[in-house]
Amino acid sequence: MNVIQADVLGMCFGVRDALDIIRDIERPHDVTIHGELVHNEKVLAELEARGFHQTKERGRHALPVTDIVLITAHGISQAERRRLEAAGKWLLDTTCPLVTRAHHAAQKLQQEGYHVLVIGKPGHVEVRGIIEDLNSFDVVEKLEDLRTYPHRRLGIMCQTTTQVRHAESVRAAIAAKNPHAEIRFIDTICHPTKDHQKALEDLLDQVDAMVVVGGRNSNNTRQLVARCRERGVPAFHVQDADDLRPEWFDGVHTVGLTAGTSTLAETIAEVRSALVAMGESQETYSTGCVA
Ligand code: SF4
Repeated sequence: MNVIQADVLGMCFGVRDALDIIRDIERPHDVTIHGELVHNEKVLAELEARGFHQTKERGRHALPVTDIVLITAHGISQAERRRLEAAGKWLLDTTCPLVTRAHHAAQKLQQEGYHVLVIGKPGHVEVRGIIEDLNSFDVVEKLEDLRTYPHRRLGIMCQTTTQVRHAESVRAAIAAKNPHAEIRFIDTICHPTKDHQKALEDLLDQVDAMVVVGGRNSNNTRQLVARCRERGVPAFHVQDADDLRPEWFDGVHTVGLTAGTSTLAETIAEVRSALVAMGESQETYSTGCVA
C-alpha cells in the first residue's frame, strides 16, 4: 500500500502561535485558559499536566478563578472582553488575526446596515464570539436553514473554517431566496483552511481511501472527512496512530493522509509511519514471506 501525504496539512499558524505563547508561560497555575485552546485531546492533557486552569467551552459564563485569563485563537466577543475586564481579569490574548478579521467583517456589515448572515456552526466558540456583538443576525449552517429574510440588506460572512464550496452554495441559495435584497458577501474563510481543502481535492483523485487526523471536536477536521465522503472516497477519522485498524485497508492500494489545523506534526508523522508499516505487512502477507 502506498501512502501519499497532502501537500498542505496539519497545524495552522494561528494555533501554532497560541501554543508558542503558552509554552513560554512560567507560572501555569496563575493562568486560566478560557475555553478549549485547541480541539486536540493530547495537547489539552499536556496543559492540564502543566497546571493550567481550563474553562470548558460550555462553562465560559462562569468567571475564571485566576486573575490572568488566556483568550484562545478562536477569539471572544467585545462583550465578553468587557465582562472579564470589569471583573478585574488581565487578558492574555492569543486570538488568531484571521478570526479578528472575521469579527471586523461582521462589524462592518452591521455598521453599514446589513442583517448579518454568518455561515457557520451554531454554538461553535468562534461563531459565538462573532454574534455576541451583533444586533441583527442569523447563523446559517445548512441550505435547509435558509429562508426569505424580511431585511432589505443582507450581509454574508463565514466562520473561518467553512468549506469554500459550501459557502458558495449557501451564498447562491440566499440570493435565490431573497431577490428583493441587496446582498454583500465578505469572504472570511482563512487561507490555511483554503489551502488544506485545495490540497485534499488534489489528493482525492489519486487515492482509494483517506486517513484524516484530528480532534473529535475539530470542525475543520470533520469537514475534511465529509468532503472525502462527498467525493466517494472512504475516509477514516483518527486522533492518533492508536486509532488505526489494519482491516480498514484491505484491498487499498493507495491511501491519502491529511490532518486538521489543530494536529501536531509529531502526531501526523506517527500516523504516517504506522500506515507505511501496515502497507509493508500487507506486502509481506501477499507474497507469503514470513522472514
Ligand atoms: S484555522 Fe484559520 S482562523 Fe483558525 S486559528 Fe487557524 S489560521 Fe486562524
